[in-house]
Amino acid sequence: ENTLKLLLIGSGKVGKSTILLRYCKGKFFETIGATVGVDFRFSNIKVNNENVKLQIWDTAGQERFRTITGSYYRNAHGILVVYDVTDEETFDQVEDWVKEIYQNAPEDCVILLFGNKTDLVDLREVSKEAGTNLAERMNITYLEGSAKSGENISNAFQILAERSFKK
Ligand code: GDP
Ligand code: MG
Repeated sequence: ENTLKLLLIGSGKVGKSTILLRYCKGKFFETIGATVGVDFRFSNIKVNNENVKLQIWDTAGQERFRTITGSYYRNAHGILVVYDVTDEETFDQVEDWVKEIYQNAPEDCVILLFGNKTDLVDLREVSKEAGTNLAERMNITYLEGSAKSGENISNAFQILAERSFKK
């Protein structure tokens, strides 16, 4: 059986746990809090007509640099780096997260940058263009969307799974 280990990475409160719940349960769950007692969830997906099981890991409270241990990154196939489009600070931290990933994750690990909370139109601080430019500069794929509206959540995991699976 094909299993892919995927990770959610990013600063605190950007919506990682909410994204995971939206993806695995198909709906938006309001505030979960930092220390939900779950390490990962499974989800099944089709990639190139093959059944693939995704094991998606979420961090709980280790959301500052160098607090995530090497074992979290070990054997990871793909990583969704999340920031909050309504919080510029979380966007500024993306490059440090990616640096940390390059130091710890397998060399062929696929990274996708995800700007979350696009539903909060009036609160947006980071433009789509800024996200696109940063991703381009780091040579990774970029998507933005919302765990609340569901925009691009399954797309993000589908793309991540497809890219990771080929390797
Ligand atoms: P984490 O620390 O990265 O796991 O972030 P959480 O998933 O706990 O989310 C932090 C807060 O942002 C919670 O209050 C969520 O309900 C909220 N949130 C997460 N995603 C979205 C989103 O797409 N839109 C909106 N409006 N709120 C969101
Ligand atoms: Mg969380």
